[in-house]
Parts: sequence; C-alpha cells; structure tokens
Amino acid sequence: MSIADFRAEFAFFSEHPQWVYLDNAATSHKPHDVVVSMQQFYQRDNSNVHRSAHSLAATATTQLEQARHDILQFVNASADYQLIFSAGATMALNQLAFGLMHSVLQAGDLVVVSSLEHHANIVPWQFHCKGVELQAIPLTANGELDLAAYQQLLQRKPKIVSLTQLSNGTGYAPDLSMLLPQAKAVGALTIVDGCQGVAAGLADVTALDCDFYVCSAHKLYGPTGIGALIGKTSALERLRPLCYGGEMIRSVSFSHTELNRLPYRLEAGTPNIAGAIGFGAAVRFLQQFDTQQLTTHKLQLTQSFMQALHEWPQIRVLSPQNSAGIVTCVVAGAHAQDFAELLNVQQVAVRAGSHCAMPLFAALQQPGAVRFSFAPYNNQQDVQRAVDAIRQAMELL
Ligand code: PMP
Repeated sequence: MSIADFRAEFAFFSEHPQWVYLDNAATSHKPHDVVVSMQQFYQRDNSNVHRSAHSLAATATTQLEQARHDILQFVNASADYQLIFSAGATMALNQLAFGLMHSVLQAGDLVVVSSLEHHANIVPWQFHCKGVELQAIPLTANGELDLAAYQQLLQRKPKIVSLTQLSNGTGYAPDLSMLLPQAKAVGALTIVDGCQGVAAGLADVTALDCDFYVCSAHKLYGPTGIGALIGKTSALERLRPLCYGGEMIRSVSFSHTELNRLPYRLEAGTPNIAGAIGFGAAVRFLQQFDTQQLTTHKLQLTQSFMQALHEWPQIRVLSPQNSAGIVTCVVAGAHAQDFAELLNVQQVAVRAGSHCAMPLFAALQQPGAVRFSFAPYNNQQDVQRAVDAIRQAMELL
C-alpha cells in the first residue's frame, strides 16, 4: 500500500481539503478502520466485559483482549511484559508515580527525569511522591541532554529514571539505548514516555528493555481517552493501584479485600471498551503499511520544510536537524501565538506556546514557540501550502 493509500483512509482530508493539518504531535486524525471498529462495538457488540454470563459479554471481552494482544505485539513486547489499559499516558504516569511511592520510593529518594519532559512526566512525581527529590538532566547549549550531568545524577543512585523517547517540544530523541542501561546499572527502575516515540515508529519495548513504557492511542491514529501502561510483570507487581473498585478484586468483604491478578488489578471499574477496541484497530491498521516507508516519507517532509525555513533568517528552529517530524521555531520579535493565528486564518493548523513542557522552554530561554508536526498522511503540497502561509504571515508580523 502506498503513501497516497494511507492518506485516503482518513476522512478528515476529504471533509476538509482546504486545511493543512500540522498539529499531529497534539493528536492525529483517525482512519476509517478505527472509526468503524468503535461504531460497530456500540451498534452491534455493546456489552460490558469480563463480568456477565451471556455470550455478548464474551464477544466484547474477546475484542478487548484481542486489542491488548495486538498492541503488545505492535510495540514488540516480549512475554515478560503486560499491558494495562489506562485513560492515556497522563493517567499511566500518575499510576506509576502513585504506585511506586511506598513500594519502591521512600522520602529522601531521588527520581531523575530530563529537561525535555512533558508536564505529565513531571507533575505526578511532585504531587504523588512527597519528600522524594525530583531532578532533571539539564540541557547543553545546543538543546541536547547534558550527559556529564546525567552521570553525576546516576552516582546518587536514583530509584527511578523516567525519560521521554521523543520530545513533543522540539522533536529531540534522547539516545535511550545508552541512557537506560546506565540507569539500570545503578539499580534504577526505568520508565519511557513513548507518546511521541510510538507515533514515530520507535516503539520496540523489548529492545528498550525498560521496566515501564507508556503511550496514548490518540497520537497513533486511535481514539482519545485510552492509552497503555506496559510493564514487565515483575515491575507491575510492585505498583500500588491508584484506583480501587470493581473488576480489580478477587474477593471483597467488609473486613478484607483480596486484589485480582494483573492486568485486572490495575484496571478498576468498567474500562473504556470502545476505546481499547479503537486502539487495537489503529495498530492493526498501521500494520498494513510499511513502517519504514511511512517514517522515511515523514522525514523527507520534515527535511524539506526545515530547508524552506532558511528563506527567513529571523526564524530560529529549535528542533534538531534530524527531527522525526517535529519542527519547533520562533520568529525574532514576534509572539508565537500571533504567528500561529496568522497561519490559522490561512487554514494551516499548528500549535503555539510551551507545549506542556514549560521547564523545557525555560531551559531554551524561550517563552513559547510554534510547532509544526508532521504525520505520514501529510504530503509535499502541505509543505508548500505551509511555506506559502508563512510567507504571508511574515509580511504581517
Ligand atoms: N508525554 C508526551 C511526550 C506527550 O506528547 C503527551 C501528549 N501531548 C503526553 C505525555 C500526555 O499524553 P495524554 O495527554 O494523551 O495523556
């Protein structure tokens, strides 16, 4: 199947031929298969999972478990790993911060993140882990992680090292194949925020060999409100559940409750069944295409867009040269919001601000920036139209 076939699966583009959608790092559009899978569930197969005796419930349960299986396979998780459905990466990171407090973390312990992180990998540590020290690997002058500072942090034997696979702010991808083994060598549990990485085709959980991997379906052509907390069974077993209630228990009395086994122990209440089914449909949809082809196409678009930006010396690109789809930039003397609005009126959708990564933009000494983020359904016309829109905007800024 070709790149054009890929784009054709997304009704958004025929509904809105006038729009150039370059806000894929915020959320991606949904292909036909995903929309239909969720609609079919509600129209034809609707039932609760796991609990009822009737066979409709068995059908719903089979679909949910199939999605769990297919997503694990998509991220190449070996048999050591299990998947917990969560409401998204934010919820998964909250479950991790809450769940590791008291079992792994004590007051006075150190958790290491990086200066690239999304707020979802900063704030839960601050609020769920009182008394725990949170330190971020600083950036070097060229926006990369300061490896010498990381070594110093590791000498303090952090209990947890939690890193993004790909920065939603700049598109910088830290070398996790080097950073994670170093964290493990000092005994830290490792967490990878794969929100952007999974959409960039980087999700090989077995190769990463991290203890936990989190992602959201909506960045991967799936629905919103559903994501995955993937972890090694031995690591997941150390998590204290964040939510308690039905489904996650084996037996309940007023004097004692016995919790269920994994993965149910960490999935209290009725899950987002349609969401999980849509997530499964998204990964099966992607598996029909050649990942390498999609990635190369996206990279070529990113490169040609970056190249075109050279026309304006007053535009400063904050993203690395080899960025996998994200181009973040500032215009000297102009507000990012104004720039984005001038593009919006020309129907080019981008995001402006600090991209839920305020510490990153503080480190870059930028109050905000405009982010153009590409997906494989974008094409060269999108690049050209975005460049034309920038040309018009630059005249007005
Ligand atoms: N981490 C990263 C790197 C992200 O890009 C995002 C979404 N912008 C999140 C975490 C949070 O994901 P969600 O809002 O889907 O929970």
